[in-house]
Amino acid sequence: MTLAHQTTTSHILLKELIQHNVSLRDKNWFKTGGPARFFAEPATAHEFKAALLWAHTENLPVFVLGCGANILISDAGFDGLVIRPQLNAIDILVDQTSTPETHALLKVGAGVTIAQLINYSLEHNLLGLEEFSGIPATVGGAVFINLHYYEFALSDFIVSAEIIEKETGLVKTVSADWLKLGYDQSQLFDGQHYIVSATFKLRRCTDLEAACAKGRRTEIVRHRVKRYPATNTCGSFFRNFHDHEVTMMSNGKKMIHTAYYLDKLGIKGTLQVGDAIVSWQHANMLVNKGNATSADIINLARIMQQLVYNSFGIVPQSECQLIGFSEYPLLK
Ligand SMILES: Cc1cc2nc3c(=O)[nH]c(=O)nc-3n(C[C@H](O)[C@H](O)[C@H](O)COP(=O)(O)OP(=O)(O)OC[C@H]3O[C@@H](n4cnc5c(N)ncnc54)[C@H](O)[C@@H]3O)c2cc1C
Repeated sequence: MTLAHQTTTSHILLKELIQHNVSLRDKNWFKTGGPARFFAEPATAHEFKAALLWAHTENLPVFVLGCGANILISDAGFDGLVIRPQLNAIDILVDQTSTPETHALLKVGAGVTIAQLINYSLEHNLLGLEEFSGIPATVGGAVFINLHYYEFALSDFIVSAEIIEKETGLVKTVSADWLKLGYDQSQLFDGQHYIVSATFKLRRCTDLEAACAKGRRTEIVRHRVKRYPATNTCGSFFRNFHDHEVTMMSNGKKMIHTAYYLDKLGIKGTLQVGDAIVSWQHANMLVNKGNATSADIINLARIMQQLVYNSFGIVPQSECQLIGFSEYPLLK
């Protein structure tokens, strides 16, 4: 292929790929926020690379979006390129390393949702991921934060990932160690690498075990519906404290649960700014009652931080990723 031909091809690709001024309000769980100046939904790693390189050439900031379940987008929107990968393949790989009779490897595109992945796994008699039932996430967003629920973390199942480098568009396979998956953290927080796919190691099971796991999935979802708001929220707004940040003890352990401190304030279902309110079900969840702006949510979160500080001398920090704000809008 000649250089001229390549340039034309990539020009056509970019013209089709890059959209202008696209609403983000309908693409995040808070249902607030302004538009993306540019927006792309790459369906292949090649398109992902083309979008990143275009943003690099145009000197634009990049934000990679999953299903928007852990973000708050500024009312001004995002003045750069938002990429929402549509990498939706799931492949069963032959596990040549260890135990193909008992385990299987699943290679899963960044855009696949955790619900789709759980369905697929259980339909193929593969166990483990059902513990994350009812959590809204794509594989990309879930690896980013190391999705967790009670004692389960996604890192228990990840063996490797394909990442794409922001500056070069280079796709590399990295190990789970490289990803540095911890509580609410990963190497991806460096903002220099994005997930293209992740590979999970899951235990094979009998039909009976798979049927039980499907029952467990239903039970977990029922439990979650009772305990948490199901929509117009990002789940827990503040992360739990690290051990060294707190002094209060409970049953011989440091009290790290932010919801504990928030609960003590008696703000559930009452503390409100505009249409943003603290959920009546969970003190660490903020909910858009319908017409909240992102500024309302920020102002409510700041009041919550101040109240915890006044009562306990510690300041909760955001787990929710704050996107498109010119300055960090919360208390540090
Ligand atoms: C009702 C509700 C309940 C929740 N319950 C839980 C829970 O029990 N446990 C839990 O851990 N979380 C929970 N959450 C939070 C949320 O589900 C997780 O953080 C989830 O991982 C978000 O995934 P996402 O695809 O929506 O990512 P987004 O919210 O779209 O993005 C979050 C971050 O991930 C990054 N990201 C997304 N895709 C990629 C990619 N391909 N490569 C690199 N980075 C990427 C984004 O850039 C952003 O920084 C809950 C949220 C809601 C709304």
